[in-house]
Amino acid sequence: MPEYVFKCKDCNQKFSIFLKMAETIDYIRCPHCKSTNVVKKYFPTPIHFKGGGFTKSTEEKGN
Ligand SMILES: [Zn+2]
Repeated sequence: MPEYVFKCKDCNQKFSIFLKMAETIDYIRCPHCKSTNVVKKYFPTPIHFKGGGFTKSTEEKGN
């Protein structure tokens, strides 16, 4: 699950949240002041299925 880092514009606190899908970002609230006035500070690479470490699901689909 990707981790997204946000910064609250109201209280200037940074916080990170694990999200399943990018659309969920619209519903993020600051855990400190409950404000929805937050900005994304860091976006991880959403695609992690290529390369090693995740071959299990690929093999299952291949069969
Ligand atoms: Zn805040």
